[in-house]
Amino acid sequence: IFEYAPAPESAAIVDIRPSYDLFIGGAWVESAGERRHKSVNPATEDVLAEITEATAADVDHAVAAARKAFDTVWGPMPGRDRAKYLFRIARLLQERSRELAVLESIDNGKPIRESRDVDLPLVAAHFFYYAGWADKLPYAGFGPDPRPVGVAGQVIPWNFPLLMLAWKIAPALACGNTVVLKPAETTSLTALAFAEICRQADLPAGVVNIVTGAGETGRALVEHPGIDKIAFTGSTEVGRQIARSAAGTAKRLTLELGGKAANVIFDDAALDQAVEGVVNGIFFNQGHVCCAGSRLLVQESVAAELIDRLKRRMATLRVGDPLDKNTDVGAINSAEQLDKIRTLSAAGEDEGAVRWSPPCELPSRGYWFAPTVFTEVAQSHRIAREEIFGPVLSVLTFRTPAEAVEKANNTPYGLSAGIWTEKGSRILWMAERLRAGVVWANTFNKFDPAAPFGGYKESGFGREGGRHGLEAYLDV
Ligand code: NAD
Repeated sequence: IFEYAPAPESAAIVDIRPSYDLFIGGAWVESAGERRHKSVNPATEDVLAEITEATAADVDHAVAAARKAFDTVWGPMPGRDRAKYLFRIARLLQERSRELAVLESIDNGKPIRESRDVDLPLVAAHFFYYAGWADKLPYAGFGPDPRPVGVAGQVIPWNFPLLMLAWKIAPALACGNTVVLKPAETTSLTALAFAEICRQADLPAGVVNIVTGAGETGRALVEHPGIDKIAFTGSTEVGRQIARSAAGTAKRLTLELGGKAANVIFDDAALDQAVEGVVNGIFFNQGHVCCAGSRLLVQESVAAELIDRLKRRMATLRVGDPLDKNTDVGAINSAEQLDKIRTLSAAGEDEGAVRWSPPCELPSRGYWFAPTVFTEVAQSHRIAREEIFGPVLSVLTFRTPAEAVEKANNTPYGLSAGIWTEKGSRILWMAERLRAGVVWANTFNKFDPAAPFGGYKESGFGREGGRHGLEAYLDV
């Protein structure tokens, strides 16, 4: 347990302005309205900066800038030239990765070890990967002469702010589209830093536009008639609203939504390795992960042993200062999210599940929640059905592989799943039957820009990443 004491050399390397305007047409532009909100550091509740709430008129301005850039510069530009800009952005992201990792941890609450070793390397990797595609689109398998769709309106959540931006912007630009992106209201700072990187890279004005704000700004963006394609990552509830409004138009739409993944452990699995996978699956990024392994399905014969080892491992997790390199579990992103986690955890106890957390003294300021595991969970419990989006694990058991499949699939979601067994044939048997966009075997939460990612069922549709990720941004 560490008290919050920012490592001064880390915090000092970021330059946060007191307030931010909108990034439209390659310049910082004042909003047509007056509304701003305060962005806070979730580990201290200190105000970091004032963020502009873009109005419908601002969104209109941004879409016009993106359209102009699409028609005049970016759309007609040969792929090999677009690639040069994307490679330049990727290199700048690498050069500034230490600073961006610190900024991400301050703004989001995630441990610096994760933002430094996972988020930022993947952000740069996405730009490198899609830079490589920009001049090879005729070979991507979507016809000999695929064309960009036009202007993309992109809305992203707060759990991986810069990584979600990279997932959206890199493929869109590689294919010749221009974008208007809205970051989440609690985590806009790295998107605004990315705007500066676009300037540093001399990206033509209007190719990338960043409009900050909350749901109202997001709605103005996705409902704007000048948008050709909507890319949304966020909750299933908002995804449904967007799908409804897009249904009255001919806009292209991809939705990356929530999840309630099962991490399935068989009795022949290497148990210590599986425990690491379970811990990584649910406590990585405080469990603010759409593909988090939030339901542990363990074979009955090893359940007691596995839960015992899991609890011992959980007792070693260090919760605290996101900027401390030894921290395993950082701050919850917002007071609102903390409330949601508390409410669902209380429902778990009310419905009869058994709650356990290791002894854990949480910092007095900021938003914190101790790593938590529930045993004696029934499939009907809210904690087994609803996405908690926090460091809370629900344990269920099974006897046979068929029962494991049935329970794993007993969810409206279908984003990811994990299988732990030494039997290769069982991995293949399970993977064929699990209705999830991603199935990991003997690992969890592994990402690669070359691998497509996306959901089945209420986890959404469309794929991001890999060659498949190009499809959403191309017309054949
Ligand atoms: P959210 O749906 O509340 O917000 C997501 C974004 O949508 C934010 O930028 C928000 O301002 C904006 N928004 C809100 N209302 C809107 C509206 N009516 N129209 C347009 N935009 C609107 O979700 P969140 O709380 O920020 O993120 C958590 C959710 O995101 C979880 O459910 C998680 O599973 C999901 N998620 C999914 C993936 C994936 O790849 N499938 C990845 C990360 C997060």
